[in-house]
Amino acid sequence: MNHELIAARYAAGSVLVVEDDAYVAFDLRCVLTGMGYHVVGPVTSLTDALRKITDEKPDAAVIEMTLGEEATPKVAEALNAAKIPHFFIDGHATGPNLKTYRDQPLLSNPYDYHSVLEALEDILKRCCRLEWDLGEPRRSQNPLVKGIEGNTTPPDLDRRFALFLDLDGTLLEIAATPDEVVVAPMLASLLAKLHRGLDGALAIVSGRPIAEIDRLLDPFCSSAAGEHGAAVRYDDGTLEELPVGLAIPPLWREALAAAADYLPGVRVETKPHGLTVHYRLAPESVNDVWRLLRALVPSDHPRFKLVPAREAVEIGRRSVSKSDAIKRLMRQTAFRGRHPIFVGDDFTDEVGIRTARDLGGMGLRVSEVFDGDPAMVRNWLLQGVEHLSGRSPRPTPTGIHL
Ligand SMILES: [Mg+2]
Repeated sequence: MNHELIAARYAAGSVLVVEDDAYVAFDLRCVLTGMGYHVVGPVTSLTDALRKITDEKPDAAVIEMTLGEEATPKVAEALNAAKIPHFFIDGHATGPNLKTYRDQPLLSNPYDYHSVLEALEDILKRCCRLEWDLGEPRRSQNPLVKGIEGNTTPPDLDRRFALFLDLDGTLLEIAATPDEVVVAPMLASLLAKLHRGLDGALAIVSGRPIAEIDRLLDPFCSSAAGEHGAAVRYDDGTLEELPVGLAIPPLWREALAAAADYLPGVRVETKPHGLTVHYRLAPESVNDVWRLLRALVPSDHPRFKLVPAREAVEIGRRSVSKSDAIKRLMRQTAFRGRHPIFVGDDFTDEVGIRTARDLGGMGLRVSEVFDGDPAMVRNWLLQGVEHLSGRSPRPTPTGIHL
């Protein structure tokens, strides 16, 4: 049922919320809707929960432990019977943040919405893996995808492929702030060799503005998508970007910058077309950040959306995504007819992963295929250069980081 739910979360995932505290229920609804999930409920009673499970068959569920001594186990039993992955939250108990209840994750105080999202992703992944292990049918019949979706090794690169690479968390290690990233010394020349080996079919697809991508990878320069596709540069230098008039309103930027002054460690990064609020240095402020942004951008806003990122939340145009950027870049001569491979690490990359697979290629999550380590991505690319040049790839000596 759910093996592609993570990739499809922006389109189709539904989550049942069983929570009897109105304020917590409202916040859960906001944050899950912001993630693109359809929220079933929230409901407050056993009867309503059982009805929703039967009638709406949600893809996952979040259950408040204090629903009642009898009610909570009965909801859990119904979810188990329906094979719906779920986890529990307990707003009253304190102690270790993550425990288990009936073999499912249990978040106790103090939990925040980042933990909730992680727990949700965890149960969905477990569900995916279970279906994979059981050998149930996959959604893609593409033989190239075989062996990749199941968390195995990445392919040897050859000229059948076009490569789309995210930057932060994929080619670069995540730093405390975006300005503090360290670029591996050989990365620019490695990308240049790959670009040549793939006859130009390589593009960087990042949330950063294109000017920043160029600065970080200088002197390497290729086709690229910046700000999740709000700007796309083609190989011939042509730039397509959203008109500045469609960027987020200046008043929002000013309001968020002023509000961030009251949240130490929270950093507002403004971009030509969008804006990102980072809370990596102040994880305790995650709920405040979400409430602040949700007040500006309701879940049904016609033009803008909130996009969760790694310890950050972004405001972007609804019409913009990495999926759209990949499709546009694939129209270029160098890319046409090839199988796209997209590599990404973040929530915002899931649509790109799905699109690459839909276009007959592969979507590789850094966490699954490269142990979450950008150095392993770079080592794979180095081996790709060797393959493309016709030389046997040499193993990278252990301890050497590109
Ligand atoms: Mg990334």
